[in-house]
Amino acid sequence: MSAWESIRYEVPVPKVARIVLSRPEKRNAQSYHLLYELNEAFDRAAQDDGISVIILAADGPDFSAGHDLKDTRRMQAFEDFDAVGTWCGFGCAGAEGRMAIEAEVYLGLSERWRNIAKPTIAAVQGKCIAGGLMLAWPMDLIVAGETASFRNNTMEMGVAGTELFHEPWELGVRKAKELMFTADYYSAQEARELGMVNHVVPDAELQDFTLALAERISRMQLFALKLAKAAVNSAQDRMGRKDSLQIGFAHHQLSHAHNQELYGYGIDPAFMDRLGYARPASKPEQAQAEQAQAEQANEGDRS
Ligand code: ZN
Repeated sequence: MSAWESIRYEVPVPKVARIVLSRPEKRNAQSYHLLYELNEAFDRAAQDDGISVIILAADGPDFSAGHDLKDTRRMQAFEDFDAVGTWCGFGCAGAEGRMAIEAEVYLGLSERWRNIAKPTIAAVQGKCIAGGLMLAWPMDLIVAGETASFRNNTMEMGVAGTELFHEPWELGVRKAKELMFTADYYSAQEARELGMVNHVVPDAELQDFTLALAERISRMQLFALKLAKAAVNSAQDRMGRKDSLQIGFAHHQLSHAHNQELYGYGIDPAFMDRLGYARPASKPEQAQAEQAQAEQANEGDRS
């Protein structure tokens, strides 16, 4: 068995696997490590013939704060985990390198989990932000604690949505636009009204309710469950989900490339400043500093 650092794997009742994000001190922010561990755990549950239903849960007050932008082991992660993508090596240059990484680690893994044959259920408490949605949305059912809230804040980063463009399917077209434009939070109750969440339950009952739901489903014939899931997924894909997913991903990459050109970063550095992240000077700041230096030298020449 792998020694996973960022997740736990449990079988709380026969035929139900529960994978738990266990970086509560980081609000379950997703490092590359966490995502590859999660992928290994999903594989384990998918390949275990004794498991029928998979729950994705989280330790601590929040389900997931999103991608871990402070993750210092980002590239090192690829030395520890085998890449499964075939586009190019993760070291390839320019926009292609970033695209290859995000195609695998973000879009690729989320889509892989969406296509697990067995039924999956997310149990969401607290905040579920941006990359957090990329863990909850691929699950078949979502149960939320009553104080849970959701948000895609990528617009504040100068980026047109997450790597997994799923808003129209989760929220409907109008709300998809509003919530992407404003980057506002929406509550568990609103998410249920929009059809994104199946059940809202008292926070203290979230895990028990989700487990009971999983247990009920696990009593059905597994092959019939898999066929039903595949049929619904296939219907959604025939409605255009797959094509819009690729367009959303391409626009996401264009946003990164645009910011890279403007600032020397894939996201607007103002966002990093607001969160208090240390960062080297952006391109405009470097130019400003060089100009100030030149002016100072000129002053010096005159005096
Ligand atoms: Zn990205």
